[in-house]
Amino acid sequence: MATRIYILRFPKETSSDPMIYQLVKKYDVEFNILKADILPQREGVMILELKGIKDKVKNALDYLRSFNVQVERLAAAINRDDEKCFQCGACTGICPVGALAIKRPEMEVIFDPEKCTGCSLCVPICPVRAMEVSPVSSAFAEEPAKVVV
Ligand code: SF4
Ligand code: SF4
Repeated sequence: MATRIYILRFPKETSSDPMIYQLVKKYDVEFNILKADILPQREGVMILELKGIKDKVKNALDYLRSFNVQVERLAAAINRDDEKCFQCGACTGICPVGALAIKRPEMEVIFDPEKCTGCSLCVPICPVRAMEVSPVSSAFAEEPAKVVV
């Protein structure tokens, strides 16, 4: 079971279709809408958390793409500034998915963007603010996503 956060960009001709509802009904994927800016006959943007078995999530995303919805992983918005990180390990205890982990025996703190869900829990705990959240899109740039795992 994986939890991932995605940014969906809907073309205006599909923004009123009940696609998100179909994710549960047809693909057995749980969803949580974290933020949405969708109006009829306008391009829409949504930040969506999806939870489900990896293959089912992939099928659900392919379904959305079949309607020309652009899908982007939010994890890309979380970065680590390796110049600032001094390998203290404080972030590894709070990361719920093991995207920040200590590699042994080197005792090196590894950041794996593929595992990262973009929850942002590591951002305030880092004493030097090495974990950074980039604005997720121009539509939401003034208010970064509040993300729940
Ligand atoms: S944002 Fe930080 S705490 Fe959250 S999953 Fe990514 S690395 Fe882990
Ligand atoms: S808390 Fe910050 S400085 Fe410490 S290991 Fe994590 S990213 Fe690096």
